[in-house]
Amino acid sequence: MSELRFETLPLAAPLQRALSEKGYSIPSPIQAAAIPVLLEGNDLLACAQTGTGKTAAFALPILHRLSDGYQKPRPYSVRTLVLAPTRELAVQIADSFRAYGKYLRTSVGLVYGGVSQRPQERTLKGGLDVLVATPGRLLDLYQQNCMDLSEVDTFVLDEADHMLDMGFINDIRRIAKELPEERQTLLFSATMAGQIAKLADTLLHNPKEIRIAPAATTAEKVEQKIYHVQHENKRPLLTHLFNERADGNPDELSLVFTRTKHGANRLAKQLTHAGIPADAIHGNKSQAARQKALGRFRTGETRVLVATDVAARGIDVKDVTLVVNYDLPVEPDSYVHRIGRTARAGASGLAVSFNSMDELPLLRSIEKLIRQNIPVEAEHPFHADEVASRYQNPGRRSDNRPQFGNKQGKRRNNANRRPKGGHPEGNSKPQGANPNQRRHKKRRPAATSR
Ligand code: AMP
Repeated sequence: MSELRFETLPLAAPLQRALSEKGYSIPSPIQAAAIPVLLEGNDLLACAQTGTGKTAAFALPILHRLSDGYQKPRPYSVRTLVLAPTRELAVQIADSFRAYGKYLRTSVGLVYGGVSQRPQERTLKGGLDVLVATPGRLLDLYQQNCMDLSEVDTFVLDEADHMLDMGFINDIRRIAKELPEERQTLLFSATMAGQIAKLADTLLHNPKEIRIAPAATTAEKVEQKIYHVQHENKRPLLTHLFNERADGNPDELSLVFTRTKHGANRLAKQLTHAGIPADAIHGNKSQAARQKALGRFRTGETRVLVATDVAARGIDVKDVTLVVNYDLPVEPDSYVHRIGRTARAGASGLAVSFNSMDELPLLRSIEKLIRQNIPVEAEHPFHADEVASRYQNPGRRSDNRPQFGNKQGKRRNNANRRPKGGHPEGNSKPQGANPNQRRHKKRRPAATSR
């Protein structure tokens, strides 16, 4: 089965260049599905979680359309408005627009609450191709005539479910009322339940719908195992595993994940030293060095690639049949990304995770996310009984290890939560202080806004 590649998508050359510099060659499923639909100008209702590559799925077609016959925006005007629930997410989205639009002239601005609004006013003054904002601060600035929304032609709601959870529904409705009817609207949400469907109904016109399988579905396709092991025995266990598997499968390609770049370098050296040729691939390596390592891996010159999460996102090697989580990922989402590097295109694959005592909370978070208990492999010489028993009896804790946290909730910023009756972004201005706000709102005079 041939995979779609970015270069076959009709995206402008400066975007292709930025993508290839980032090492992205294969669009993720949401990108493959959404980019063509958005380039055609359709509205989009997308059910996709974070970590699926959804930001590039909307940023790339938006940047492409902006670059076509580019004209500088008028002062105060905004062409693309992206709403996000939290400051952190807004920053990430703006960074993505800037990174993908690196070789374009597009201007990207950012507006969120909890900080002084003066610099944001200055950013708006020049006019923006893309404005990424949290809803409350955006409304504040709009009501102070700091921007003109009458030229918005693309409106994106990212993580709409979080925005509703945080009480932004009325703000979103108010903002939408200020936008031209004639526009392209995109709504991304991890769920499509209740209010989201209603909101989508009122904001979108004949949307194309895309549902990207939640993380758990990916995880179900790959055979997974946990090895409970003492931290210091991880390396001998890895060598043991490779030697054992090499008997029946001498050409197997394996991807090993470490948490740090330094750890990746060290492990690749140690493996090579032990007679298992390996290369490391991570963010500190030049593009040329990464390509060289990938080339050696593809041709089987090295059987093992040791990678960090960031570097591994760009790896598109089809025949990887073993993924080893030498260190468990800190973000549970990364586990799904990692194990998804094997069993591609219907092939079979095994994902093995080395779990030491201090990684138990991470393991719990992963199992919670994928909604599965990963089977334990105890038949190996480095099995650590004490880790296994702590895993079985999480309640019996004699140490001060952190509680099993829900890393998923990390993005929810309490500072951005709407206090009852107040403003979600810490502005003391009460909601609805002026019920006639819309009627009284002064439009910026034509001379300054045009
Ligand atoms: P998102 O779901 O938009 O937060 O993206 C998740 C991560 O995947 C981000 O770190 C992106 O930079 C990365 N990413 C997005 N698209 C691709 C791609 N096609 N290939 C490799 N990495 C990607």
